[in-house]
Amino acid sequence: MSAAAEIGRLLREDLRGRTAYGAPQLEVPVRLNTNESSYPVPHEVVEAIVTAVRDIARDLNRYPDRDFVALRDDLAAYLSAEGTPVRADQVWAGNGSNEVLLHLLQAFGGPGRVALGFTPAYSMHPIITTTTGTTWVDGMRGVASDGSPTETPFDLTAEAAVEQVRRHRPSVVFLCSPNNPTGTALEPDVIEAVHDAAPDAVVVVDEAYAEFRRPGRPSALELLQGRPRLVVTRTMSKAFALAGARLGYLAADPALVEALLLVRMPYHLSSPTQAVARAALAHAPRMLATVEAIKAERDRILQSLPGLGFAPVRSDANFVLFGGVRDAAATWQALLDAGVLVRDVGIAHHLRVTAGTPAETTRFLDALAALPADHRGGPTRTELPS
Ligand SMILES: *Cc1c(COP(=O)(O)O)cnc(C)c1O
Repeated sequence: MSAAAEIGRLLREDLRGRTAYGAPQLEVPVRLNTNESSYPVPHEVVEAIVTAVRDIARDLNRYPDRDFVALRDDLAAYLSAEGTPVRADQVWAGNGSNEVLLHLLQAFGGPGRVALGFTPAYSMHPIITTTTGTTWVDGMRGVASDGSPTETPFDLTAEAAVEQVRRHRPSVVFLCSPNNPTGTALEPDVIEAVHDAAPDAVVVVDEAYAEFRRPGRPSALELLQGRPRLVVTRTMSKAFALAGARLGYLAADPALVEALLLVRMPYHLSSPTQAVARAALAHAPRMLATVEAIKAERDRILQSLPGLGFAPVRSDANFVLFGGVRDAAATWQALLDAGVLVRDVGIAHHLRVTAGTPAETTRFLDALAALPADHRGGPTRTELPS
């Protein structure tokens, strides 16, 4: 028996035949496939990070602060600056928001329980869910409450979401706003309606792209007061331009945060991680200085694509999903051959591109414009798979 067959025989039944998360990490000139910031950490923040890590290095013989009290203070202050006060005991953090989501599933999911999300959404939501033995249910966007297709394929209305929540009786509901990979933001009434329709569920609003949202678009942070089952997750990986540090966090009721202590590994946030995150948070305005420039490139992509024969979806994030691609895999490869890496998110006739620097965006648009005409096309809305 081969080693692979032997391991396959021993693997948990529910994991057999699954494929791992695998966004390609390729060395190409223009990398626009994982929604990172294209801008390196500014020099003055690099200096602050190095100093902070040097200051704690001598104490690496000791375990880190298990409850990362100072970091939670800083994260609470960062969130509060948006206008809704958040206290440190409402904050929890992990190695990326992926780990924070894992803690939520470990505490509130598990065998015999259901987590519901509305597809297409973040591909890690079902993966994290199923690793905890929780049953994943693929909810649908772009449908009315009677199941018929709506005019806009990726919208989620309160009525349709409520109907699906009532039908599947989940223990955890994932909402994502702005949503990856569609870029679409949710109206607050959808979040409130889902919350009220699911009295036995923890409702998680993944706001990984919150800092890129358009003016006037509220955050679910404003809904936390009086809703102990509501959770808002954020990350330093996107707007904060710190994906390599692995720091994600959430805001919720202190009682919910307390429950997460039951499932986290002790000392899960290393001292260097805490020091790096705090040094970066101390320079928040500098770290966020490129957000407006990135939004401008996003809007340039949205404006340019129709003229190139493609159909972009309006985005509140730092990326754009676009349709009108005859064969997504072929166009993905043609762009890669031109030195531009974008993302094939598995939606037929669509690709996703991150808004990068102006030069990167120009390279992407030029590469698209240079594609032969047969890259364009693909079915109209009504033919799209749901
Ligand atoms: C990128 C992304 C995250 C971030 O994950 P980290 O583990 O914090 O890097 C979370 N949610 C969504 C929807 C994302 O697109």
